[in-house]
Amino acid sequence: MSHRAFGAADWQIIKVNGHDYLTIENISKFYGLPAEVTSSGDKVQTETVKNPLEFVGGSREVVINGARSWLCFPLIEQDGKFLVSRTDVAKTIEPLVRPHRVPNVGNVETVVLDPGHGGHDKGAVCRYGSEKDFALDVARKLCALLQTKGLRVIMTREGDYFVPLDVRAQIANAARNSIFVSIHFNATNDDPDATGFEIFSFTPRGAPSTSDNAVTPTSLSMQAGTVVDNQSLALSACIYHSLLGHIPEFDRGIKRARFAVLRLTRVPAVLVEAPTEPVIREGDLKEADLSLINLIGKSAFPSPQQTSTPSQRVSIESAPIVP
Ligand SMILES: [Zn+2]
Repeated sequence: MSHRAFGAADWQIIKVNGHDYLTIENISKFYGLPAEVTSSGDKVQTETVKNPLEFVGGSREVVINGARSWLCFPLIEQDGKFLVSRTDVAKTIEPLVRPHRVPNVGNVETVVLDPGHGGHDKGAVCRYGSEKDFALDVARKLCALLQTKGLRVIMTREGDYFVPLDVRAQIANAARNSIFVSIHFNATNDDPDATGFEIFSFTPRGAPSTSDNAVTPTSLSMQAGTVVDNQSLALSACIYHSLLGHIPEFDRGIKRARFAVLRLTRVPAVLVEAPTEPVIREGDLKEADLSLINLIGKSAFPSPQQTSTPSQRVSIESAPIVP
C-alpha cells in the first residue's frame, strides 16, 4: 500500500468560539487538491473554475469538482487564514470529493422513484400545468429507462393520487439496497429565482439547512441528521455531475433541507427540484423529460471516475464531530 492510515495529526483543528475549524490549506493538502478563495460578493462561474476546490470568502457557496454546493457554515477568516467548519469537512467536502469512499455507495439494486405530490395535492401550478403531472410523467419515463439498465424500479405512486410522505419513505426503507429519488418541479410563471436545478439531501445533525439564515455554529439546530447523510450527499453529487454541461449557467446547486421524505428515509435519498422553465416550453413535456432523464438516469449511482482522484487517507469523519 502506498498510503498510510492518516490520523488526527493530519488535521490541525482550530477552535473558534469553541467550534472546530480547519484551514483551507490543511484541507487542500489532505486531499491533494488545489484550492482557491474567491473574494466575497463574487459568484463563482462554474464554467471557468480552475481549481477542484473553490471557496467564496464569507459565504457558504463552494464549487467542488465543478459542482456548485453549499456549506453548512460560511467560510470565516482569521489571522489571514480561511477556515472551514469541521462539520463541512466531514459532511460536505468529504462525500463530494470522494463519493466512492462513502460506505455502501454504489451497492444499488433498487431505485425508488417518488413523483412528488398527486391527487388533491397539485404541487406548484404554472401555465403549463401542475407539478404533480410533470413529476409523474418524468418518473414513468425514467422508470422505463432504469429498467432497461437492469435495475429494479419501484414507484411510490403510479397514478394521480396522493401518497402520504411517511408511506413514500417506508416504501424505500422496505426495499433492499435501494436509493430514493423524489422528483419535483419549481413551477412559477415569472419568479426568476425558481430557475435552475437544485438537489437536496438531508441536513446533517447540528447544522442549518441551506435556506436557513441563521448559520453561525452558536445558533445551531440540534435536530438529528440521518445515518445516511453522506451517502445521500454523494448521490446528490453524482446526479449533479451528470447534469454539468446540460444545465444553464444559473444552477442552484447541491443543497440541504429537512424535507419529511428525506428525514424519514433510511436509505440514500435525494429530492430533485427541476425548473419548469426553460425545460418545459410551450407545454412540451418532452424537453423536461430529456433533461431529467439525463440528470438521473445516467447517473443514479456514484461513479468514482467522475471525480478527481484525491488521496486515500482516512477522513476526519472517523473522529466524532463537535459542531
Ligand atoms: Zn414539489
